[in-house]
Amino acid sequence: MTSGAQANEDRVEDKVVDFYDNFTEVFRDLWGDNLHVGYWHDASDDAPIGKATDQLTDQLIARLAPQPGRRILDVGCGVGEPAFRLARTADVEVVGVSISTYQVGRAGERSREQGLADRVSFQHADAAELPFPDASFDGAWAFESLIHMPDKEKVLREIKRVLRPGSTLVLADMFSQPDTELTFQDIITTPEMSEYRAVIERAGLVVREFTDITANTLAPQEVRESIAADLLARKDDVIKMTGPEEFERMVDGVRVPRAYGYLLATVTTD
Ligand code: SAH
Repeated sequence: MTSGAQANEDRVEDKVVDFYDNFTEVFRDLWGDNLHVGYWHDASDDAPIGKATDQLTDQLIARLAPQPGRRILDVGCGVGEPAFRLARTADVEVVGVSISTYQVGRAGERSREQGLADRVSFQHADAAELPFPDASFDGAWAFESLIHMPDKEKVLREIKRVLRPGSTLVLADMFSQPDTELTFQDIITTPEMSEYRAVIERAGLVVREFTDITANTLAPQEVRESIAADLLARKDDVIKMTGPEEFERMVDGVRVPRAYGYLLATVTTD
């Protein structure tokens, strides 16, 4: 028999909170302030990871293309870096939510440090129960955050609820391929690409664009080697986050591209 307390500990949401409350800084130290993969334009693009992760943000900004004055929801905001980039590119208000209270605190401090606090704010929330009224945003993105949410249909319906009719939602997320081997399996759920699209449609959203950008997210060899070297140099810290087996898998996964997929989707509420 499983006790109530144990059942609670098994919730993915609690594991995600634990992970990001404890390891956000380890990640930032390794990867930078963007907690998502990089985007390389083509074979001649040798951007280091910090620049490549901004380049992925730029792909989402171009798809969201918000008009000045609009209010945008950032679902799963990390420490706010994509929200700041969006607010610097477009004259919009951004509200970010994360299930990690640590991240919300850091993101808020960073917003004040960067002089953006009048337009970019953060709050603690579970994406499955957003603390906002119906139709209170003009656009949204979920930037590599749905990966942590097992019931994506429910979350997408919830995001749709808080969007005004005619709004755009941009999704960036991993999907699985038949031989996918990802790290952190206990805190991620990745459907295959066709199932992902079906989930979006079941949530009542209209898919306008659905692009497999996996090839652009595979870092050039040089960048991979530098990330692997950084991982090994910070082994003592990183291993606290991964455990020894996951650490080996992580280093391997950086050296040899894994068979995961990555998609960008632009969807509208109607
Ligand atoms: N979008 C950010 C962070 C990506 S990491 C960036 O690109 O930098 C995944 C993010 O999703 C984390 O901030 C994590 O706290 C958040 N997240 C995961 N599950 C969540 C949930 N159920 N509700 C809200 N946020 C969640």
